[in-house]
Amino acid sequence: MRAWNNVKQGDLVYSGKAKSLFRTDTDGELLVNFRDDITAFDGGKKDVLTEKGSLNAKVSARLFSLLEEHRIRTHFIRSLDDSSMLVRELEMIPLEVIVRNVAAGSMVRNYPVREGTLLDPPVIVIDYKDDSRHDPMLNDDLILALKILSRDELQQLKELALRVNIVLSRFFEARGIILVDFKLEFGRYNGELLVGDEISMDSMRLWDARTKGSLDKDVYRFEKGDVLAVYRQVAEKVLKKVE
Ligand code: 5GP
Repeated sequence: MRAWNNVKQGDLVYSGKAKSLFRTDTDGELLVNFRDDITAFDGGKKDVLTEKGSLNAKVSARLFSLLEEHRIRTHFIRSLDDSSMLVRELEMIPLEVIVRNVAAGSMVRNYPVREGTLLDPPVIVIDYKDDSRHDPMLNDDLILALKILSRDELQQLKELALRVNIVLSRFFEARGIILVDFKLEFGRYNGELLVGDEISMDSMRLWDARTKGSLDKDVYRFEKGDVLAVYRQVAEKVLKKVE
């Protein structure tokens, strides 16, 4: 059994494609372990890359802290070690909330828009989180009909997603990186919506501002190069202090 200052790892609650969630000895606080597994295409492509878990954990921790500095509440409490963090237990909402600043990925595959087209205002897309159904896209009426969120929560969730977008886009811009799009997950905590899950190179699409080269999981998905080297490069920029 692993233990840190005042935190003991308890039973496994859930094991996802790249992270495992454990109980701790404090009610309402969970431990997230970022594993070295990397997957794409609903788990159709899988590998293990030593160090990948810790790179994503460090980037997530920094970005959650950044959001908290901007008064956007998240599940993040603190990092425990290079690949583990302590988080608040949320009642997770089965949605993937995607914010797009630049057309890429499934938007370009599914709609008549050229990759690289600037989207102003940003586009929010909300998918139902269910791998067996390939995460089908929802709209406001479906979200309300399926009783996933109240009308008020839906409004709050979209406002939060756009606030996160402003904070993250500026942060990456200062580091020579374009935040093309990203995916957030939310959960309820004492009646409030908090940002949960992770914010990492697995859940964002990042382009080098100068070369427009991929700096994210697309390098793995489409075999564009050394994914670990790219993840290291992003982590270094995210963790470095910028004046
Ligand atoms: P797309 O719809 O273009 O495939 O993805 C849009 C953005 O959301 C990308 O940054 C992508 O990484 C993220 N995203 C979409 N679905 C998932 C998912 O199931 N898991 C993760 N980690 N990210 C996702």
